[in-house]
Amino acid sequence: MQVYVEKPKCTGCAHCFDVCPVAVFEMKDRSSPDANKDVAPEDQQWKGSTDQNLVQKWSGVQDGHRHFDEKFENGSGGLSVAVSGEACILCQACLVECEGECIVITDDSSNEYRSIYK
Ligand code: SF4
Ligand code: SF4
Repeated sequence: MQVYVEKPKCTGCAHCFDVCPVAVFEMKDRSSPDANKDVAPEDQQWKGSTDQNLVQKWSGVQDGHRHFDEKFENGSGGLSVAVSGEACILCQACLVECEGECIVITDDSSNEYRSIYK
């Protein structure tokens, strides 16, 4: 299994980090040198700018998670990196919890699964 996060759309909500049973995701500060330590294609890597549609949708939402903050602290903020995609068991928990609809999983038969926020 391969897993990556489309970084420009990641809100930093940390839902994926919270629900994944096999610790595929780690939350990183946006300035961290490890912010692109997954297999996201070049155009989906973190280069310092966030998709403005996502900012408009989530920046004012008060749901107990901080959105688009530089740092991960106290359970949210920063952005998610799929550091251990090979451990994924395709339970799909992250796919329905991802606010940014920005998680992409590819199985060993090249089937692709994308997050759709419930
Ligand atoms: S689908 Fe994979 S990456 Fe997502 S929560 Fe389940 S095991 Fe973790
Ligand atoms: S659930 Fe989606 S938007 Fe939230 S931190 Fe994970 S990848 Fe980013």
